[in-house]
Amino acid sequence: MKSIILIAPPSAGKGTVSNIIKEKYNMAHISTGDLLREAAKDNLEIKETLEKGLLVTDEVVLELLKNRITKEDCANGYILDGFPRTISQAIAYEKILEDLKREIGCVVYLEIDKETAKKRVVGRISCPQCGAIYNEYFDKMKPQVENICDKCGTELTRRTDDNEETFNKRFDTYMEKTSPLIDYYDKLGLLNRVSSNQGSSEAALEIENLIK
Ligand code: ADP
Repeated sequence: MKSIILIAPPSAGKGTVSNIIKEKYNMAHISTGDLLREAAKDNLEIKETLEKGLLVTDEVVLELLKNRITKEDCANGYILDGFPRTISQAIAYEKILEDLKREIGCVVYLEIDKETAKKRVVGRISCPQCGAIYNEYFDKMKPQVENICDKCGTELTRRTDDNEETFNKRFDTYMEKTSPLIDYYDKLGLLNRVSSNQGSSEAALEIENLIK
């Protein structure tokens, strides 16, 4: 099984697509955003950086990532959601892979236009228990009972950085820091483009064809 690096602007559906593939192939799903939200619970500096929509330092992210990918469930491949986010992280990741004698796998660029992305962010609610993701603005993504998870009955929550102001900042940060990665991986011949405007399950199907 190949590992997958998912690159996308905020709310292109990295989390939803990762959940679909993870369940089907029993792969580990590593979201650096989730790792950082967990770390932010007892680290004020990380918490403030997330709330401003800025990037956390490479040092912090790389430490969390190294610990996570060396866990047993990652031995057969994993989905990287939200990492690398800068060219310097991509270069540091190559060094980590070299030390672990692992292949990079495939890189997927999930494309989406800014207006669709904004609706997805501002309407997003998720289950703190099982990770299921819903959206208040799209009928087919609403939970059956308002604010309750269909899968496990837990009350749904909203991320504190899922508001319009932070979205705009996260989008600008993405354009400035993360979009150069697309060229970087394209030049290495590793990039695959998948449209996310069509919907997350269609995008997940396209990605499955790439990893088969
Ligand atoms: P989104 O892609 O929708 O912004 P994420 O959950 O991937 O959501 O990331 C949330 C926040 O976590 C980012 O805005 C950033 O502050 C931080 N973050 C996530 N991954 C990284 C990373 N690789 N490097 C630095 N900061 C990160």
